[in-house]
Amino acid sequence: MLDAAFFRRWMTVTAASVDREAERLTALDSPIGDADHGINLQRGFRAVAAALEKEPPGTPGGVLTLAGRRLISTVGGASGPLYGTLLRRTGKALGDADEVSAEQLAEALRAGVDAVMTLGGAAPGDKTMIDALVPAVDALGDSFTAARTAAEEGAVATTPLQARKGRASYLGERSIGHQDPGATSSALLIAGLVEAAGE
Ligand code: ADP
Ligand code: MG
Ligand code: MG
Repeated sequence: MLDAAFFRRWMTVTAASVDREAERLTALDSPIGDADHGINLQRGFRAVAAALEKEPPGTPGGVLTLAGRRLISTVGGASGPLYGTLLRRTGKALGDADEVSAEQLAEALRAGVDAVMTLGGAAPGDKTMIDALVPAVDALGDSFTAARTAAEEGAVATTPLQARKGRASYLGERSIGHQDPGATSSALLIAGLVEAAGE
């Protein structure tokens, strides 16, 4: 079973990996965006880590809804409301249970990803974070490591795609040949599950 401490670790290890990879994420956002994705997420996840340290919620749902709220209020870019919605909706789906199973997390994350698709209007293949998140949720029933692999493969597979949502879509065919920054950061988020579980 996964308790609040697991979810707090998930958020803090994600904040650390976003810190480590911020330059790379911003570099990916340079040819097909406005070169701020790493900076945006770094600001957001630092605020998440600080909020969790100051007032650690006692339930898995509480951790994720707080994290989602912090992302929405601190990240100005498109990714803030999208990631914020992902975590808030996932947290809401977990309810106020003290512990949740991996299956419950997979189900809740599915609801979170669905909410991101509703909010942003992106579907798989549009070259967005959805291309990492959907395969990750599909694989989450197997294991965290399977989800991590699926997310990483999904992120890499955005390279030959033409963007149909977000800033990169303004480039039309010129968006082809570049890996999507948001799909790349989503793979970091999913990899954080493996790290938080100590696998
Ligand atoms: P901005 O484009 O406002 O500068 P970021 O650079 O932080 O925001 O985030 C860009 C990422 O957000 C993209 O790489 C993409 O993965 C994701 N994104 C943008 N628009 C959408 C959308 N409508 N649905 C899902 N993801 C999106
Ligand atoms: Mg950007
Ligand atoms: Mg921006």
